[in-house]
Amino acid sequence: MSLVVYNTLSREKELFVPIDAGHVRLYVCGPTVYDYVHIGNARPVVAFDVLYRLLKRRYRQVTYVRNITDIDDRIMVRAADNRETIDALTNRTASAYQSDMGRLGALTPDFEPRATQYVGEMVAMIGRLVDKGHAYVAEGHVLFSVPSMADYGRLSRRTRDELVAGARVEVTPYKKDPADFVLWKPSTDQQPGWPSPWGRGRPGWHIECSAMSAKHLGETFDIHAGGLDLIFPHHENEIAQSRSAFGHALMAKYWMHNGFLNISGEKMSKSLGNFFTVHELLEQYPGEAIRLLLLSAHYRQPLDFTHEGLVQAKATLDRWYGALRGRDATPAASVPQAVEEALSDDLNTPLAISAVHQLGDPAALRAGGNALGLLQQDAEAWFRWMPAGAGGPTDAEIEAAIAARQAARKARDFRESDRIRDDLKAKGVLLEDGAKGTTWKRG
Ligand code: AMP
Ligand code: ZN
Repeated sequence: MSLVVYNTLSREKELFVPIDAGHVRLYVCGPTVYDYVHIGNARPVVAFDVLYRLLKRRYRQVTYVRNITDIDDRIMVRAADNRETIDALTNRTASAYQSDMGRLGALTPDFEPRATQYVGEMVAMIGRLVDKGHAYVAEGHVLFSVPSMADYGRLSRRTRDELVAGARVEVTPYKKDPADFVLWKPSTDQQPGWPSPWGRGRPGWHIECSAMSAKHLGETFDIHAGGLDLIFPHHENEIAQSRSAFGHALMAKYWMHNGFLNISGEKMSKSLGNFFTVHELLEQYPGEAIRLLLLSAHYRQPLDFTHEGLVQAKATLDRWYGALRGRDATPAASVPQAVEEALSDDLNTPLAISAVHQLGDPAALRAGGNALGLLQQDAEAWFRWMPAGAGGPTDAEIEAAIAARQAARKARDFRESDRIRDDLKAKGVLLEDGAKGTTWKRG
């Protein structure tokens, strides 16, 4: 089955043909780690995790890189506010990110490079750009010279005026052209910095992804993805740097961008303050329900976040896991055709989800769910989930009560066995007696 993806570069759906069919290479821009990420930041992670899973089904070797930006002015400010070191802050928030994304069912990428470990590669790349006349040094900064690249702006399709306006020009007298952007900037003694031919300093954001993607995926690779807001300037500038440094016509063959997760019609963002962190949502909802909500709209469409949406997603999963309860847990060998077809059409997850709804057979349901990164846990485990701080009996206390009820029934003390059942029910735990014994769920 062929895969079609929407390529931002051409603004069209295109047949996916890898550069090297023996090795497909994918890069997704990851977060800047200074705090917990919000659920909007999880949208690219989950959407492109579905892509990664699909590519792994089709190709022998797939390398997926998702970076972590651990050097940034926001990180420096936050570390100072928190009175902790930059390392302590970025280590803590990067591990929280990795664990939260894991709880959303995202597979671990093959590489998760942290920017600070690639400064040598960035310095080398900047040196190359200077040597080739694509960058210049001014007042301790190194800037990319936008006029040095004939087709700068090809991805975002911005006019020269829009480019200049969008470059968010600060008062920077050292820029030769207002659209030029920073590759390297000087650091004071108090700021983190690395030695370079241009003095002690630190890299700009865009050069990080150019250097890390080249290191792990090569100078040209298949797919580069991220949120819509990264098209300009971040991806435009990554392209400018990589193509100018390496001299290729393409940095990545396909550019894929997810739409925004909104809240009341507005983009969820840290700066607007209208956000929910994945970390806090995971205390109230199972990660799988959050994942299903994120996949309920096509990745390029806007998606409105609501708590009702999460409640509905959980109810859908209750239904699916209900159908899997007590049935064979082995997934079918291949993903059901209708699910695979939907995903092969530019990751049409809402269509794939409706196809999963049609599946009656547990093995097919498991396999269809797996393609979406859903329905992978034991059905009993799903029904045991409870929100953080909900109180109520623990799993062990429930198991002990069920054993006591069994003993009462064996002794034909039905008053006692009913009392135990009713007591659990009052605490939100429902018992179901079946051929294989008693199962339970939190209702
Ligand atoms: P940032 O840390 O802001 O660079 O964001 C990390 C990733 O999340 C990038 O791919 C962004 O495009 C994406 N992103 C940020 N906000 C949203 C949102 N509200 N909806 C969808 N994606 C977003
Ligand atoms: Zn990037």
